[in-house]
Amino acid sequence: MFKIGCHLSISKGLTAAAKDIVKIKGNTFQYFSRNPQGFKAREWNQKDFDDFLSFSKEHNLYRPLVHAPYTLNCCSSKPEVRELAEKILKDDIERLENFDDALYNFHPGAHTGQGVEKGIELIAQTLNRIVNPNQKTTILLELMSGKGSDLGRTFEEIKKILDLLDYKEKYGVCLDTCHVFSAGYDIVNDLDGVLDEFDRIIGLDKLMAIHLNDSLMPFKSFKDRHAALGEGQIGLDAIVRIINHPKLRHLPFYLETPHDSLDGYEKEIEMLKSLYQD
Ligand code: FE
Ligand code: FE
Ligand code: ZN
Repeated sequence: MFKIGCHLSISKGLTAAAKDIVKIKGNTFQYFSRNPQGFKAREWNQKDFDDFLSFSKEHNLYRPLVHAPYTLNCCSSKPEVRELAEKILKDDIERLENFDDALYNFHPGAHTGQGVEKGIELIAQTLNRIVNPNQKTTILLELMSGKGSDLGRTFEEIKKILDLLDYKEKYGVCLDTCHVFSAGYDIVNDLDGVLDEFDRIIGLDKLMAIHLNDSLMPFKSFKDRHAALGEGQIGLDAIVRIINHPKLRHLPFYLETPHDSLDGYEKEIEMLKSLYQD
């Protein structure tokens, strides 16, 4: 089964978002755990959640990917920023235990001048204080473009974080096609080579989700600007090779392309489904 969906707002609730994704013929979606810029969480609505679970079952939806706010930074040089990040991660994960198998994605963080090693250490220490062996949620570290002091630009940095973590089975990696391309991994001309490198350094068994985006910015620009599929520097041919690659095609794909209505996603999903080889 081709698992394809897009990022959706859950301002009208989880069930409403699930209905939206079915309407545009996707079968999974991503949403923010809370306000992405601030940190305010929605109040938990048990009825909405129960409705969502039965609707998902009925429509055979794949588990959603829950994205942490991207302003969260557990390796900032400011202790109060780190403490807030830890509190939010903990709170989000506790809430996600309502799902039996949630996927929770977050940006590793920016070391804000402390250096890569220190940043990596702070991220791992934070996670190790939160995660427990009974947790059902899988935490995904997202590969980043590498702007500013953002960590997670290279496979090596992600691997170093993973190496420091307790309960390694609770973690995975999310590959954002825009991010890795702007970070300097040539998924356009050498997808096999990039995947071999991923496998050698991190291990492909750790790869659990793909953010499917074109990139407005050129290769190795270290800039994070998403483009609609086929309207950026990656191009549609490379995207088609990615969704059909034998090592990737079983993964869930989430569009984070810039569209201001569901229409844009609906068209992309329709196009991708027609280009996915059964
Ligand atoms: Fe992200
Ligand atoms: Fe992403
Ligand atoms: Zn991005």
